[in-house]
Amino acid sequence: MAAQAKDVQALKAKHTLLKEYAYTPRPVLRGYNMRTLYINVDTLEIREKPVTDEMRKKFVGGKGFDLKLLWDAVNENTRWDSPENEICIATGPIGGNTNYPGSGKSIVTTISPQTAIPIDCNVGGHFGPYLKFSGFDALEIQGKAGQDVIVFIDGNLSKIQLFTAPDEAVDSHILAHQLHEMFAANEREKQHVSVVSAGSGAEHSWIGCLNFSYWDKRRKAVRLKQAGRGGTGSVLRNKRIKALVVKYSGLTGKSNQPVDLETLQKTGLKLHREVIALDDKQCKMRSIGTAHLVEIMNDYDLLPVKNFRYGQHPEAVKLASWIWKDFFTQNMPDGCWFGCTMSCAHAVDDFELKTGPYKGQKVIVDGPEYETAAGCGSNPAIFDPRAVIEINFYCDTYGVDTISFGTMTAFIMDCYENGILNRERTGGLEITWGNWEATLEMLHQIGRGEGFGLIAGKGIQYMQEYFVKNFGADAQFLQDIGMQGKGLEQSEYMSKESLAQQGGYYLTNKGPQHDEAWLIFMDMVNNMIPTFEKKAEALHYFPMFRTWFGLQGLCKLPWNDVEPADNAKHDEPNKVPEHVDNYLAIYKAITGEELDRAGLIRQSERVYNFQRVFNIRMGKGLRANDIPPNRALGPVTEEEYESRAERYDKALKEKQNIDPAGKSTAEKLKLLLAYRQQQYEGLVDAVYKRRGWSRNGVPTVEHLKTIGMDLPEVLATVKKHL
Ligand code: SF4
Repeated sequence: MAAQAKDVQALKAKHTLLKEYAYTPRPVLRGYNMRTLYINVDTLEIREKPVTDEMRKKFVGGKGFDLKLLWDAVNENTRWDSPENEICIATGPIGGNTNYPGSGKSIVTTISPQTAIPIDCNVGGHFGPYLKFSGFDALEIQGKAGQDVIVFIDGNLSKIQLFTAPDEAVDSHILAHQLHEMFAANEREKQHVSVVSAGSGAEHSWIGCLNFSYWDKRRKAVRLKQAGRGGTGSVLRNKRIKALVVKYSGLTGKSNQPVDLETLQKTGLKLHREVIALDDKQCKMRSIGTAHLVEIMNDYDLLPVKNFRYGQHPEAVKLASWIWKDFFTQNMPDGCWFGCTMSCAHAVDDFELKTGPYKGQKVIVDGPEYETAAGCGSNPAIFDPRAVIEINFYCDTYGVDTISFGTMTAFIMDCYENGILNRERTGGLEITWGNWEATLEMLHQIGRGEGFGLIAGKGIQYMQEYFVKNFGADAQFLQDIGMQGKGLEQSEYMSKESLAQQGGYYLTNKGPQHDEAWLIFMDMVNNMIPTFEKKAEALHYFPMFRTWFGLQGLCKLPWNDVEPADNAKHDEPNKVPEHVDNYLAIYKAITGEELDRAGLIRQSERVYNFQRVFNIRMGKGLRANDIPPNRALGPVTEEEYESRAERYDKALKEKQNIDPAGKSTAEKLKLLLAYRQQQYEGLVDAVYKRRGWSRNGVPTVEHLKTIGMDLPEVLATVKKHL
């Protein structure tokens, strides 16, 4: 410990203070500060901005505030690496509450290197809440620094500092540790610090993530949660920011100054009891976390295998929940925010690395969660749990998104098998199914910024164009098998047999990520939404409902990863109505404002439509941008068709009235795909209509007026396209 303190002093000695700014403390009242913080790392301008009543009413908080600030900062020509692009971070009015599980999330937005439109990520760790209690509902960071810098927000002393940081590490597991040591005056204060950092992989790729830290006092170590999607970490490093640090020591259960603490505590207690009583019988989040999904997805033919060709694999048992349970260190309070009884943020302790710059060291690995187990495991056919854990660790510390990395690795392996790639073209890497050594070496290349890793790290959309141009690859085949939408890699569920999930992925604002709508079971397994209209209703309700978590600073998991014992008896059990009512109760208890179920959806609808119009402003967000790759809709190769021939022959007969007998596989494949494309287009029509959008996917003026998002700049943008 003494040696570490000395090291930190040596690092500090190299800092040059560039700017210091003092502000007046202002306690949070009813969940809000009513001001945000602007920092420009180039001009060194630091400014407070008021939150107007109109901003609060229309944008609510969290993702809403982020998007509003980002909209005002950029123009239609702004790209991810333009100096005016911003990283915006906010929690919401409920964020930072310690009484109700899952109330500590931060939401990040920026213009994404991958999609060229706003990306939004919902992330744990303590940064967003500490930022709010330090005095600011949101933070916007603009400009590009001339050298590596750190931004430090000291909520205890009401002071902001910007200084050079030449000698701190770049990779997150070391950097976050250094900064918790540096900014905490003593052991106890380490809990009061939170660090946002990226890593060397984020520096050299477009799939960089941000790591949000918190101090795990039982392990006496830093833990990291990822704002994973769309290259947020790449933007941070492009701005030459090593880290954003916040420190705040006054957290209590009343820090939001709620109007009705008693209701808040009572509602929280009810859910705490439910989690304790039911979690073990339901999703086992407390013992395994989201990784419990691996065997369930495999059983239902929904686990991505070999670049989403298949949904099952005999070796998937090697990645099943009981395997992870043995790796996870149990009986630790693995919550990513105070008061989260669900405690799903599991970790592997003392994991000895076999490769890379930290080879031989024993480290803590946060996860793997389901997306990582499927993305970096089954999808590239890596059925070695230790290899998956090692990939997980290096992705995190390099600041690389495990979902994009997993999906694009599976794409690369598919290209390798199909002769588009070979050793010569990858610089000697044999990136074939299951080859975890080559996969890790590619990841280390991303970290070092060299070789094939530089191409791979730009993601599937970039590789599609690169392989056509440089290797003469078939553009249509790459479109068929490249699992990306709007430039973002698809997350790790098979959507082939669920039309609603195809919409759930490709009718999203940011690209195919499951956090807007996960409808596979409702649609495919339980057949609860058989018509276009029912699917459209689900693709209206669930994305709007789930958007609300991002407005409030909430985690989605306690909503439906535990359900009340009598949930099935209620109308519309998929909405988990009792938990929706809990949210309405805690919203009112904190803000003092009445909100009913319709009002909740309306809050989200405003921000959701604003984000859609933002996409349109940036040159995307129209029908042409909502098209999935063919493999998201069904089989694209004869081998895939043959692997589920009985299912697809039956579909031809029953849904298309076509007798498959006597037809070649190629003919059947073509007929099936044409039908599924037509079905998807029918779904798009129905969803756009339900959402109040034109046939080209543009929110209509009438709809914007109805929902109260008829701001002049919004109307001016849509009028160009209607
Ligand atoms: S449920 Fe899991 S991810 Fe969500 S807040 Fe709790 S510990 Fe964090």
